[in-house]
Amino acid sequence: MLDKFIIAANWKMNGTPAEARSFAAELDEFIREVQPQSEIVVCPPYILLNEMHGSFKKGGQNCHHETSGAFTGEISAKMLKNAACEYVILGHSERREMGESSELIAKKAQAAKAAGVKVIFCIGEKEGEDFESVISEQLNFAVDVDVIAYEPVWAIGTGKTPSLEEINSRHKFIKDKCGLQVMYGGSANPDNAKDISALQNVGGLLVGGASLSISSFTSIIEAK
Ligand code: PEP
Repeated sequence: MLDKFIIAANWKMNGTPAEARSFAAELDEFIREVQPQSEIVVCPPYILLNEMHGSFKKGGQNCHHETSGAFTGEISAKMLKNAACEYVILGHSERREMGESSELIAKKAQAAKAAGVKVIFCIGEKEGEDFESVISEQLNFAVDVDVIAYEPVWAIGTGKTPSLEEINSRHKFIKDKCGLQVMYGGSANPDNAKDISALQNVGGLLVGGASLSISSFTSIIEAK
């Protein structure tokens, strides 16, 4: 369990070294000036992690469940730790779509915990699926995790979000089930961040598209 509201940037497969360096420098300056109460986390592609330094936390977007070995193209949780990552996003719907099972995601969470990396565990239903049954099933695998990110799959990158009432009641459902802090993800942006982050049961925001520009990401942070 974390104690602060958490605002995390998921850059996905975007960004150049120059963009990463300038984003980090501007974010660092912003945080020093504004002193936000929230925990700010930036999750760029692995090869940009060492380009980003400042008064924010860093996270990976995935990790492997083994610590080392013959796993071409993979990154272990320990490697993330060595690259100064405090967090890792696991179970993102874009990875579940590529075939990651709940069992595998749970193994990754166990590996992250063993490496001392906090897990942001993503869950969410697809359009037309029953929220309660999908979420309850996914939460069965949320064992070694620190924070949940509730991301309705149909809201990711679409500009669509559930209503504020729905977001709040769904977060309460999740919180009651697992006792963990629950972030919201899915088309969060500078226009809706204030209302969403003010909801009683929302413990953070996971931001994709709107985290790629420093001005929209800092507007989201300021909105809290
Ligand atoms: C995400 O992919 O985690 C996400 C929330 O994306 P977006 O903000 O672009 O919907």
